[in-house]
Amino acid sequence: MFRNFKVVPKVVFGRGCFNQLGDIIREQRGDTDHFMAFLVDDVFTGREWPNRLPLADQDMLLWVNVDDEPKTVYVDTLTQQVENHAGRPVGVIGIGGGSTMDLAKAVSLMLTNPGSSADYQGWDLIQNPAVYHVGIPTLSGTGAEVSRTTVLTGPEKKLGINSDFTVFDQIILDPELIAGAPTDQRFYTGMDCYIHCVESLWGTFLNTFSQAFGEKALAMCREVFLEAPPDADDKLMMASYFGGMSIAYSQVGICHALSYGLSYVLGVHHGIGNCIAFASLEEFYPEGVAEFRDMLERQRISLPRNLVSDLDEGGLEKMVDVALVLEPLWENALGSDWRDQMSRERIRQLYLRM
Ligand code: NAD
Ligand code: ZN
Repeated sequence: MFRNFKVVPKVVFGRGCFNQLGDIIREQRGDTDHFMAFLVDDVFTGREWPNRLPLADQDMLLWVNVDDEPKTVYVDTLTQQVENHAGRPVGVIGIGGGSTMDLAKAVSLMLTNPGSSADYQGWDLIQNPAVYHVGIPTLSGTGAEVSRTTVLTGPEKKLGINSDFTVFDQIILDPELIAGAPTDQRFYTGMDCYIHCVESLWGTFLNTFSQAFGEKALAMCREVFLEAPPDADDKLMMASYFGGMSIAYSQVGICHALSYGLSYVLGVHHGIGNCIAFASLEEFYPEGVAEFRDMLERQRISLPRNLVSDLDEGGLEKMVDVALVLEPLWENALGSDWRDQMSRERIRQLYLRM
């Protein structure tokens, strides 16, 4: 069976297009004077551009905190806060990096589906369409703006709510919003995109659809991180979108499997976790890792070292468990006989290098 892939139906791209948000949501409000909920990363409190948010009197502005990556309990709390404002909103607007966009996706789903967001971690468990939701990235690389998942850490697992209803109804891609990101964070999130491309293009699930998007995204990442052209932010934003489109029709690989283990056990964030894992994967992605090292040098980024060596045996075993659950990722990287090639011990050894 071929995947019947849901895409974001409406996209605006361009410098300053954030200013169109008011017109876009006015159309959505129609005749109703019911409220919209704006979920905005609290890193932007006190900045200039939130003053340009098209807030109507009845709307709700909810600053969200992403010091920790999104947890199901936090999604449930935010959903409750939105409901307490005035019931169900006509729309949810998420403005921030991958974490904030994921929070907005998850809240928009939980406003129409009963219970806790932890009940829906998995594939196609959501029953009811979400509230209209808009994603506006302020960091580029995760591809969260185009994906059909919202990645959440729950009481038992780190796993997304994967469903067609998760996909944004509208995204607004304004390169001016990513301009102020700190250099290291911009790099880690950008490398998420670079690694998506390498894992997709050097994976066994590759097909022409994924290749078309992946090759273009990879070329744009190279320009951004090796040459730094004047329109680097525009290119990075489109690379993130294309990289997301590429993996949506193939899969990620070993780096993401290992990075999920780092994140679950050590709380390491996705972008930096990918960088730490990828640096030790020369034997699987030789060209990609060599180029990644050039990018690190060029961008003057130094990665933390010896992250895992002090970990107790229980923690290390848990990381191996978390990585091994992600079977499609291993299969994409190594083929259908991946179990013959990748033992628990080999994964342990990979972790011990980090
Ligand atoms: P993030 O959203 O976690 O943000 C990282 C840090 O950067 C935070 O401190 C945030 O406040 C800050 N920040 C964001 N934008 C900024 C800006 N313009 N200027 C200054 N600071 C800014 O980072 P991310 O790498 O974009 O997202 C990672 C998250 O995305 C993880 O939770 C991961 O699980 C998720 N993810 C989701 C998908 C998906 O398809 N849904 C895919 C990959 C990753
Ligand atoms: Zn990723």
